[in-house]
Amino acid sequence: MQEVKKPKKPLIFYYTLALAILLVFNLLAMPYISARQVKEVDYGSFMTMTQEQNIGQVEVLDNQIVFTDKAEENIYKTGRMDDPQLVERLYNSGAEFASEIVEETSPLLTILLYWILPLVLFIALGQFMSKKLMDKASGGPNSMMFNMGKSNAKVYVRSSDGIRFSDVAGVDEAKENLAEIVDYLHNPDKYRQIGASMPKGVLLVGPPGTGKTMLAKAVAGEANVPFFSMSGSEFVEMFVGMGASKVRDLFKQAKEKAPCIVFIDEIDAIGKKRDGQLGSNDEREQTLNQLLTEMDGFEGNSGVIILAATNRPESLDPALTRPGRFDRRVPVELPDLKGREEILKVHARKVKIADDVDFGRVARMASGASGAELANIVNEAALRAVRDGRGFATQADLEESIEVVIAGYQKKNAILTDKEKRIVAYHEIGHALVAARQTNSAPVQKITIVPRTSGALGYTMQVEEGDHYLMSREEIENKIATFTGGRAAEEVAFGSVTTGASNDIEQATKLARAMISRYGMSEDFDMVAMETVTNQYLGGDTSLACSAETQSKIDQQVIALVKKQHEKALGILRENREKLDELAGFLYEKETITGEEFMNILNR
Ligand code: ADP
Ligand code: ZN
Repeated sequence: MQEVKKPKKPLIFYYTLALAILLVFNLLAMPYISARQVKEVDYGSFMTMTQEQNIGQVEVLDNQIVFTDKAEENIYKTGRMDDPQLVERLYNSGAEFASEIVEETSPLLTILLYWILPLVLFIALGQFMSKKLMDKASGGPNSMMFNMGKSNAKVYVRSSDGIRFSDVAGVDEAKENLAEIVDYLHNPDKYRQIGASMPKGVLLVGPPGTGKTMLAKAVAGEANVPFFSMSGSEFVEMFVGMGASKVRDLFKQAKEKAPCIVFIDEIDAIGKKRDGQLGSNDEREQTLNQLLTEMDGFEGNSGVIILAATNRPESLDPALTRPGRFDRRVPVELPDLKGREEILKVHARKVKIADDVDFGRVARMASGASGAELANIVNEAALRAVRDGRGFATQADLEESIEVVIAGYQKKNAILTDKEKRIVAYHEIGHALVAARQTNSAPVQKITIVPRTSGALGYTMQVEEGDHYLMSREEIENKIATFTGGRAAEEVAFGSVTTGASNDIEQATKLARAMISRYGMSEDFDMVAMETVTNQYLGGDTSLACSAETQSKIDQQVIALVKKQHEKALGILRENREKLDELAGFLYEKETITGEEFMNILNR
């Protein structure tokens, strides 16, 4: 879509334009008008016409004679000569003596009519236009501070190269939901007739980079209506009241352009719960109030649809989500396997790519990646191809790009010491071996032990577990055991431990804690929730809701649970000590091992 710049032509432009039009008008039109009215002929012609009795009306003036032909079609004039028989001859020719055949206009009136009047008209027009522009720029007549209350929303107009639904892949449910809005914008009467009104606001919720902004643009693109886009944080300004004024201005613009889509990104920046605490942000609250007022202020069928995106739906003020405001919520989740494949294909259309690329395989390897990350993976692959001087990207480019996007670039100058490299190899194999022995299947796609710019010393590409919505207690326990497997391998092989397991420890603890406090998988607490998730899409923070006494009990149980799994992992590795050494040796040597190679060695 194209962004439209507001017209910012200076005043002088309009005046010059007016003057130019005026001059052209006078030059072209004036002689034409006069020429049509009176034809000047010589006295001879006049005499001939008199003799031929071809004179209709005649008027003899002081210094000229004005006359018409018999049919009174044309008016002629000629200079007056000293001609004593003039009147007699005219009388004989049957001419009719008349007065004021041509209405004589005074020169003053001519000037007034042809020069001053248009000038006045054009100046008035110029003034009117400039006033309109000033109003627009200052956000209405009652905004006193120059430009500060202006909404500065990005406005996109309809255009054929806008984003369409086909550009957004893997979010079919969301698309289906929004298709109704598109249909409404195309054909509002269908809905009005039956008395149905569209929701005024639709909230798109989901993790970052899943295509919420894209979806909003696609709705505008499909419906072929203007698209106003603004981020929630742009409303919040230094000065109290400015945000509210921006909201007002945005809605004023939108109503003028209806039907249209207004998109507010990161709405949580203004829509946070108003908690009434001391020192809470006054400006934000006023902005939110103004938004609520505006949403109540227009009719459901006015054709303005407000889309908003957030990744913290739980932090929104309930007033914002109640019916009549953002009463529809469209989840935009991370893509599943099929979705990832589709997204990769959509983005691969934009780059040159080898014909034999297996997108399904790449999608499987990029488990957990968001749409934005997948877009980035395709782009990285293309960049890699350019770096290698090739004309198209290959499967290998894509696979390497997954690691680049998720784990960062390879750190060229961070050389692990020999001892470190050996420890990392054992650690990573430890995870994989524990996982493989528990499930009897390939636990990983690939392990590499090349340091990455993100700080990771090794990178394990997990296998896609399939879409699966329930986890049994055993599965979670196995997962915890797998997390502890890295550290356990260090202990088994070297008898000492390193800091390399800090992330594993965090993850294992989180899982164990959730089992006890949220999933009701402990003996003592039965089905009582001790914690609630407060931040579903951003890391999943939780807040405790129990007594201090219970808390310490939870802590004890978490410790016991993790300890048990750690023991289990140690047991598995001790039993498979030979395989551990062999696999770690292979990884140390080659720096990379695929799931296939791993299983081959394990099952030898
Ligand atoms: P959000 O608003 O959810 O944070 P965006 O809509 O800004 O995410 O997406 C960022 C970029 O990621 C898009 O420009 C697009 O290239 C890519 N992307 C994300 N989701 C998808 C998807 N479902 N299909 C295709 N591309 C996507
Ligand atoms: Zn680890």
